Amino acid sequence: MYKNHKCIECGYCCYTAASFPISKADIKRSPEIEKYSIEGEVWYDPETKEMIICPFYSEESCLIYDKRPQVCRDYPRSREQALFTECKGVVSVETESSGNIKDFIKAK
Ligand code: SF4
Ligand code: SF4
Repeated sequence: MYKNHKCIECGYCCYTAASFPISKADIKRSPEIEKYSIEGEVWYDPETKEMIICPFYSEESCLIYDKRPQVCRDYPRSREQALFTECKGVVSVETESSGNIKDFIKAK
């Protein structure tokens, strides 16, 4: 995980439809995720095969938090990834000194 990150638990990274790789270890730890995978990537609707928002996301928390995939545990892996995917935790940490989030986003 990127060290200059402080998760503000906004949930943005979880309720944005996206695909990312899962491993055999992830499936072993949490077998319920497998049906939402296609060729080693999640999240896909098992019937339509379309990319979906994570089915384990709820407004309160991740429904499989203790056994969530490794990618979820490691996110964000770098500043670049955090900025590209608009992780609010990194944006808020990096703007603590300047205090102007709009200028920061414009400059990225
Ligand atoms: S498994 Fe949990 S942490 Fe991972 S994307 Fe879904 S809600 Fe977020
Ligand atoms: S987008 Fe960043 S700050 Fe928001 S929940 Fe995800 S990791 Fe935490």
